[in-house]
Amino acid sequence: MRKMLRSAVSLILLSLTLVHFSYASQKPYIILVSFDGFRWDYLHRGLTPNLERMQRNGVAALSLQPVFPTKTFPNHLAIITGMYPENHGIIFNRFRDPFSGKTYSLGDASAVRDPRWYLGEAFWETAERQGIVCASYFWPGSEMRPDYRHPTFFEKYEHNRPYEIRVDGVLKWLQLPEAERPHFITLYFDAVDSKAHQYGTRAAETDSAIARVDRMLGRLIAGLEKLGMLNQVNIIAVSDHGMMDTSPRRVIYIDRILGDTPFEFQQRGPVMMVQPKPGYRDEALRKLRAAEKHFRAFAREDVPAYWHFSQHPFISEIVVVAEPGWLLQLSGEKVRGKATHGWDNHTINMHGIFVAMGPNFKKSYRTGTLRNIDIYPLLCKIMGIKPRQNIDGKLERIAFILR
Ligand code: AMP
Ligand code: ZN
Ligand code: ZN
Repeated sequence: MRKMLRSAVSLILLSLTLVHFSYASQKPYIILVSFDGFRWDYLHRGLTPNLERMQRNGVAALSLQPVFPTKTFPNHLAIITGMYPENHGIIFNRFRDPFSGKTYSLGDASAVRDPRWYLGEAFWETAERQGIVCASYFWPGSEMRPDYRHPTFFEKYEHNRPYEIRVDGVLKWLQLPEAERPHFITLYFDAVDSKAHQYGTRAAETDSAIARVDRMLGRLIAGLEKLGMLNQVNIIAVSDHGMMDTSPRRVIYIDRILGDTPFEFQQRGPVMMVQPKPGYRDEALRKLRAAEKHFRAFAREDVPAYWHFSQHPFISEIVVVAEPGWLLQLSGEKVRGKATHGWDNHTINMHGIFVAMGPNFKKSYRTGTLRNIDIYPLLCKIMGIKPRQNIDGKLERIAFILR
């Protein structure tokens, strides 16, 4: 009798383990790779055999529309939270809280960890709460405190960390025992952005960077193949924004326009946030409006609704936006670099890429422009978890790319 009971118990235990095992092996994998500043049309330069392989075997969008302003941190946070910057809180790579005087900056290790700036929920928070281990080999916001706001595994950002080590780090995570193994992993490469800033979008150095990051994708795919995991893993390759060449002949000097009207400002380049001294807002706005040529100036509340850039309290009273290719700065300043980004997110030159391959994606499927805020609900759908409801992204605008 006791023997029978014991074997019944072990049978139950065995079947529970089997159920658990099959559930675990079905749990999807997603690797989200970001190629900073990889403009939509760089895919057509014939330099990217691995991205082309992904296109053939998966989904490719004509372009990926970023959010405004088309800068690195606002967009990486939009991708990972499904929100516009006015809602997720990271409105620029660097900005000031006018109430406390504190500054957020991508280069400030303590600011990037400080949760006070981040108002959205990153996908890794949503996923970890629902039982999915996450990892990040770099992503803006991934170092945030306290512990429940960052992925289980993350790396402190190190600009010069060799790319091979990053890829191999991801592959190592995938070899952890199933109970510890991350099923969502991010990976990030800056080179395409950095080289185009320095040398321009048509430079040989930029082409080499495009080929180099594609080789890293090849290394990742080959590694997955070797682990026998390639057909289990969804790889999504994205970029945060595009890039456009600039010129010392296309510069607007804001201080010359404002003359003796006292003001402070944040940012220069494609967008400038102008904060007139108390009592000078209307005067400043009047002067800027009268001078509008190759730029536009808006009171914060009148920033076009399609930019979704007026609700956050740290946005200055006046937002000045240059025509694509033009720069806003102060007189006496030199134009740095040969190309940049930050302009209107509807301009095709500011668009990035979206290429995805894996068991959850359609095969050889081409679609038009996708929006980066829709990636967060897409990730939730693939993982089979509940997204946050207070997001700007919409699953119905992107779900058709899934099988
Ligand atoms: P941008 O000025 O918009 O072109 O910003 C690009 C730069 O952002 C890159 O060259 C990196 O130095 C920086 N960056 C990207 N990811 C991170 C990160 N997770 N932490 C700190 N800095 C980063
Ligand atoms: Zn960027
Ligand atoms: Zn950049």
